[in-house]
Amino acid sequence: MTPRNPTELAADHRAFAGQLRAELAAPETSTYVDRYAQWRGVRYSTEEEQIAADAQLLRALYERDWNRFGWPTEVGGLGGDVRHRAVLYEELVAAGLTVPQPTLLLETLGPPLVKFAPALAADLLPRALAGEEWWGQGFSEPEAGSDLASLRTRAVRDGDHYVVSGQKLWTSHGAGAARYICLVRTGSAESRHRGLSMIVIDRDLPGVSVRPIAIASGRNELAEVFFDDVRVPADHLIGEENRGWQAATYLLQFERSVYAWQSSATAFGRFRALIDDAGRRSLTDGVVARIGALYADLVTLRARSAETLRRLADGAPVGPEASVDKIALARVEIGLYDLAADVYRDDFTFGDSPEMNEWRDEWWYSRSATILGGSAEVQRTILADHVLKLPKEAVR
Ligand SMILES: Cc1cc2nc3c(=O)[nH]c(=O)nc-3n(C[C@H](O)[C@H](O)[C@H](O)COP(=O)(O)OP(=O)(O)OC[C@H]3O[C@@H](n4cnc5c(N)ncnc54)[C@H](O)[C@@H]3O)c2cc1C
Repeated sequence: MTPRNPTELAADHRAFAGQLRAELAAPETSTYVDRYAQWRGVRYSTEEEQIAADAQLLRALYERDWNRFGWPTEVGGLGGDVRHRAVLYEELVAAGLTVPQPTLLLETLGPPLVKFAPALAADLLPRALAGEEWWGQGFSEPEAGSDLASLRTRAVRDGDHYVVSGQKLWTSHGAGAARYICLVRTGSAESRHRGLSMIVIDRDLPGVSVRPIAIASGRNELAEVFFDDVRVPADHLIGEENRGWQAATYLLQFERSVYAWQSSATAFGRFRALIDDAGRRSLTDGVVARIGALYADLVTLRARSAETLRRLADGAPVGPEASVDKIALARVEIGLYDLAADVYRDDFTFGDSPEMNEWRDEWWYSRSATILGGSAEVQRTILADHVLKLPKEAVR
């Protein structure tokens, strides 16, 4: 079934949710062809297999128009708003599928592209939605993470190109990405955030080299990306020169809302899987109590995240309060996978089934939850300074 009456569905995310749920539902009779069977409940042992399968799932959704809702028609979407995208991720997880990994970056990088570079977005977004390519976020550098305004990758204008030199680090899904959406310095070395620009750098340009980084689980989740006098067309700029911070601030609203929603949907799906198994095992009272506590944390996270999404959909700014969501997400992710370790016990440590390998991989990845996308310490400082407006710490 392709979406019936797209105009109506774009105007009504509840009707969209209903039709999508029917589309994704597991088959109830043997005569029904399950279009999504190949992705349902499947575990992938490598990053490369996972991304390849996710790209195919995106293709399947795109061919039937489902993931075009929530994006403007001018850039290849079918209209609607960010709630349609949130519904898509929710329904995928509820149907035993997954949030496709490339969409975690797409939901962060796509919105500034659409807003500040619509012509480029019209060219690139449909390819990403169709799973033909995915993108990396090239912000962090060896000496610039929390303090992003100190980044040093330089872009110098030369005719109708920028010449880019420098290095990015910790680029998620960077090894196979087709493009990197980067923050680069176009102003003076001292210009801090006022001298940054955002630009799309194609991976196949001469001078771009990429080195995968395997994380503790062994999966090549991250990459280092090097730029050696790379000539990037000037029309790949996202927004104006030296206004990259504005685009990055806009981007952050989506990272704090849609990305958090996607991640919390995944966490809820994994929690349900854990509870199914927990019911068949003997558990200590302490573990049982932690299951209850984690459920409360999950529901709190979902409520916060839904509220942040509503603000975004209503055009209200997603302000510093969303740092609460970021801290709550990290708490849930770490708590969930620690709980899995204590539910499965020896199986978690020594089991080599695909399920146990997946739980272990996720446990390793969850250790980074208080770091990636802005560390927990920095989030707490934002809350103290900008939400609670506490007096600055006295410097002795
Ligand atoms: C799994 C993973 C995926 C990632 N994916 C990407 C990606 O796709 N693209 C990308 O650009 N980056 C990515 N990152 C990088 C991430 O954004 C940075 O790691 C993060 O911003 C922290 O920067 P840093 O590692 O340089 O640590 P630092 O900034 O050096 O921080 C080190 C420690 O000091 C603390 N600290 C720093 N400044 C302050 C302060 N002002 N007040 C209090 N404490 C402070 C931090 O909390 C932290 O504990 C990823 C990181 C991880 C772990």
